[in-house]
Amino acid sequence: MIIQATSGCTYNKCKFCSLYQGECFHMTPLAVFEEDLAEIKSVQPHARRVFLTGANPFAMSYENLKLYALTVRDYLIKCQIIAMFASIRDIKNKSVEQLRKLRAMGVGGLSIGMESGDDETLAFVNKGCTAADIVEQLAKLDEAGIEYYLVYMTGLAGRGNGVRNAVRTADMLNQISPYFVENPFFLSIDSLTLFPDTELYEMRRGEFIPAGEKERLQELIILLQNLRLRTRIQADTVSNFRPITGAFPKDKEKMIAELRHIIDTVSEEEMAAYRGSLKSLGIDKIETAL
Ligand code: SF4
Repeated sequence: MIIQATSGCTYNKCKFCSLYQGECFHMTPLAVFEEDLAEIKSVQPHARRVFLTGANPFAMSYENLKLYALTVRDYLIKCQIIAMFASIRDIKNKSVEQLRKLRAMGVGGLSIGMESGDDETLAFVNKGCTAADIVEQLAKLDEAGIEYYLVYMTGLAGRGNGVRNAVRTADMLNQISPYFVENPFFLSIDSLTLFPDTELYEMRRGEFIPAGEKERLQELIILLQNLRLRTRIQADTVSNFRPITGAFPKDKEKMIAELRHIIDTVSEEEMAAYRGSLKSLGIDKIETAL
């Protein structure tokens, strides 16, 4: 069941993102949250999984998260997991002890928009954290037993920088999960879509030259070749030209072969046309890499 816990993003400064422009962050008033829970309870009293929406509900303080998590449990007694979006910055102000307590209240399944593990790329797109921050904060989640999923975005480093981004991100990812082998539960792969109302779009003819489609697939191959995690790879969002998924490292060679096959058999123009047709992302024409 999906329920709105917050609105807007506490950060709103990533150069590639316009999702919450002009929207101030605020928490859903508890009374409204309870009304929604009562409605959910009336149709699905045995809901086991709840997803809190908003760009980053995990930005709430420990005390507020505790209040909202316990309120979920007041209404949905079978609920096992209260999942939500989170950023690396949102973990910083919570101790491992607090994270453990949140886990005991059912908080888990954090979906984290990491985007990159390369300091140059993170700084360039103003992500607000470094690779060292990512390693440090994810280790806290591991220690607390909180499951999480990570997002990596191909093309984010711009033309000619994908190999560097992939190698450094793999190096960073290889340092995580010393305690909790299930993490990251999966690594989701998106391919950068350049939205017209973003800072990155404005930079597209100067400081930021978008990477080509084949270059992005090559970047993903490099990431897979350098990765030493046990996880799932989910390159299956609409921003990927063709869905590629698999258990890693079991399906590593198969996935790399599929990516090579696309590079060898599909033209750059066809892939760029696909990206230009992504109306489901809410835009009519997207600036492609050609
Ligand atoms: S990418 Fe996430 S953290 Fe960055 S501005 Fe957008 S919603 Fe906020």
